[in-house]
Amino acid sequence: NRSNASSEIEFRGAIGHLIGEKGRGIRTGLSMNHNSRLDIAAASAGLMRTAVSLAAHHAQHRHAFQKALIDQPIMQNVLADIAIEAEAAAWLAFRLFAALDRQDESASERLLARVGAPIAKYWITRRAPAVVTEALECHGGNGFIEESPMARLYREAPLNAIWEGSGNVICLDVLRTLAREEGVVDVLRAELMAAAGADRRYDAALKRLEGELPEMIRNEGQARRLTERLALMLQASLLLRFAPPAVADAFIATRLGEGWSGQFGDLPPAADAAALARRAVPAI
Ligand SMILES: Cc1cc2nc3c(=O)[nH]c(=O)nc-3n(C[C@H](O)[C@H](O)[C@H](O)COP(=O)(O)OP(=O)(O)OC[C@H]3O[C@@H](n4cnc5c(N)ncnc54)[C@H](O)[C@@H]3O)c2cc1C
Repeated sequence: NRSNASSEIEFRGAIGHLIGEKGRGIRTGLSMNHNSRLDIAAASAGLMRTAVSLAAHHAQHRHAFQKALIDQPIMQNVLADIAIEAEAAAWLAFRLFAALDRQDESASERLLARVGAPIAKYWITRRAPAVVTEALECHGGNGFIEESPMARLYREAPLNAIWEGSGNVICLDVLRTLAREEGVVDVLRAELMAAAGADRRYDAALKRLEGELPEMIRNEGQARRLTERLALMLQASLLLRFAPPAVADAFIATRLGEGWSGQFGDLPPAADAAALARRAVPAI
């Protein structure tokens, strides 16, 4: 890839030092992967935020059909929708970094970081290319040309889903962790319960998840569905607790609602898309 100093290397006649127990190389390597997977989730949250800022800035200054793009209702809906996606991604990544910081003092934070890293890696890296594509389109043709910063973001966006474990492999890790790490389901439940009672749609989604979880953990073919659900619930719980109510409300109405298409620009009429879009414009 062109945005990192990355290349294929070969070790010939190199000296190696054992840094873990003999015969347990994969396990030793993977213990480092858990942390770097969280880095990657955060990097994708950053890619999204950059893309949203560039799109909102462009929409504020570009006029079409006698108005600034940011004053056009459909564009407001699109910008608001990608902005809440980026915000939810950042909250999830940073909640898990906080858990990682506290893992030596707290067993529950250690377990949350352990299971949360692959959940965040899977979902945030999966959403980043979609956000970047939409933000690119907000620029019209100018977004597509190589001179635009969007071209680089677009090219980089899918990579984070692949390295350090591609999507399916990451979901297998989520399944394994839920099935084998004692106490991990209780830790997730406690984290999600922290927002219980704040929104009836969230409470209903939590109840549904509780009911379906045991079967989903046993069914490998459902691993993506399960990981996505857990990610959305964690994001919703964080937004309910810490974000402005309008952000949490728009997120829950779509991501936890019936019939969400997954496409951007899908916020319902009750969402204040104009205000959410303006909130995404960077202060320069
Ligand atoms: C730019 C770049 C830089 C890289 N840098 C490094 C580096 O510095 N160090 C390093 O060690 N590696 C590096 N990698 C390698 C990277 O980590 C791997 O490419 C990645 O983990 C995927 O492994 P793979 O390519 O072998 O794909 P495969 O494992 O062959 O996967 C192919 C597809 O099959 C799916 N799949 C695999 N197993 C299953 C399963 N059991 N069930 C269902 N689906 C499955 C995967 O999700 C994927 O979609 C780099 C890769 C790239 C692109």
